[in-house]
Amino acid sequence: MLRLLSRQVVTQLEIRRDLLRLEQRLLQREQEYLSLNAYLQSLEDKLAAAQQQSLTDPLTGVFNRRGFALRLSEEIERARRYQVTLALLLIDVDHFKQYNDTFGHLAGDEALRMIAQLLSEGCRKHDIVARYGGEEFAVILPVTAGDGDQILGERLRRLVQMAAWPLHPLTISVDGAVLQPEITDEHDLLTRADSALYQAKAQGRNTCVIIA
Ligand code: GH3
Ligand code: MG
Ligand code: MG
Repeated sequence: MLRLLSRQVVTQLEIRRDLLRLEQRLLQREQEYLSLNAYLQSLEDKLAAAQQQSLTDPLTGVFNRRGFALRLSEEIERARRYQVTLALLLIDVDHFKQYNDTFGHLAGDEALRMIAQLLSEGCRKHDIVARYGGEEFAVILPVTAGDGDQILGERLRRLVQMAAWPLHPLTISVDGAVLQPEITDEHDLLTRADSALYQAKAQGRNTCVIIA
């Protein structure tokens, strides 16, 4: 009887020891899982930051041309799906070469930063500001009804004109186009907006021309 009892006690002790080992291993696995998860999260964050960086203009902080193209195609798709209007403004800084030649490239860079900031502040929350090229910007205006694009274009033009320019006042020419049913892709929309630019420049600059 005693031998039987002692064997049972030993077995019980062995079971407890194994259980303890199993629990320790489980805890270790859980810790490994947690640190792996944290590592994965940090990788995802880095990827998101890299993606954001690849769409951002380093000088001004607004979308770059790549970001602009991506957002424009998304907005065109959305406008078509939900049957809402979409407008696009192209903005060119007037006589910017002269500004650069007079005040230097660094001052020119600072002026571009200031224009990007003025445009961003002057837009609605869901409008998308991008640096389209050297001294050219673009603003995508989702769900813009009536003459909203004309009003906003005028507002941006005036904002730049009235800004407190430290060296010399700068102005912009604004041109725009509205997404029409016959416009099938972003290239068509851009072509229409671009043709308005020549009209705005021909009208003596510091103007806003919208092609309905
Ligand atoms: P217009 O009124 O007809 O638009 O004349 P403009 O002088 O603005 O146009 P033009 O195309 O002749 O010159 C654009 C200038 O923009 C030339 C270039 O040096 C300047 N530019 C382009 N990118 C940058 C930039 O990143 N930084 C600076 N500082 N200047 C730039
Ligand atoms: Mg230009
Ligand atoms: Mg210019």
